[in-house]
Amino acid sequence: MSALPDEEPSGGVSVHPGQGSAGDTETVAQLEGVSRVYSMGAEEVHALDDLSFSFGSGEYWAVMGSSGSGKSTLLNILGCIDRPTRGEYRVRGQAVSELDDDELSELRSKELGFIFQSYNLIPQLNVLENILMPVLYQENPEEGIEERGRVLAERVGLGDRLTHRPAELSGGQQQRVAIARSLINDPALILADEATGNLDSKTAGEILELFDELHAEGKTILIVTHEPRVGERADRILRLKDGALEGIEDNRR
Ligand code: ADP
Ligand code: MG
Repeated sequence: MSALPDEEPSGGVSVHPGQGSAGDTETVAQLEGVSRVYSMGAEEVHALDDLSFSFGSGEYWAVMGSSGSGKSTLLNILGCIDRPTRGEYRVRGQAVSELDDDELSELRSKELGFIFQSYNLIPQLNVLENILMPVLYQENPEEGIEERGRVLAERVGLGDRLTHRPAELSGGQQQRVAIARSLINDPALILADEATGNLDSKTAGEILELFDELHAEGKTILIVTHEPRVGERADRILRLKDGALEGIEDNRR
């Protein structure tokens, strides 16, 4: 099932500017004419070229494309780690360009959860502390947040490993910690970059099952991958080619 770039995709997705997600779902993220140009001396690299699309609450997306197609650049913009050179990115309607760096980092910590290929856990902290990491330095942490961390540890199957350090865990277990950490603030959007790239195929399958479960629970997930068997797990695949939208595939049946 493939969609040509100029086809109107179904189900609350817009590849055209000015049209939000239609129908019943809340728009979580929206790009309008987003370009990202890197200046390399006299040369310009157009890493993203006039990208427009939006996705809604509860959707499960995969971004796919060959190496150099702009996947990481897109993820950095979606994750508010980087800003567009042109165009506008909105999270839950909030234009990112209107935020200063402090507001941006607050948006990042409250609305976005990150999962990385290399887990990015803090070696000196145990499982529970790593899960609580995003709230550890908050001035007024939410009441009951530690209990929430325990519940999330249970949720990812690590309820009996709370005091283990990352070095005492397998790769799959470390990624489960990272997934629990990404959920601690109940983010609007979970972003995962090649989350199974360092795992053997059985363990990768278990992590993908966890994503399926989170999706079934209503979480909004966007994964970046170059592996077809990973991307096919998502409901919809956004294909990038040379920084432009090549097409959107709808895998729901
Ligand atoms: P992918 O993640 O799909 O492999 P990237 O988003 O990393 O692709 O890169 C897209 C394009 O932008 C590539 O041509 C890459 O060389 C270029 N690029 C990425 N980051 C930078 C940077 N910091 N400076 C200059 N060019 C970059
Ligand atoms: Mg990349």
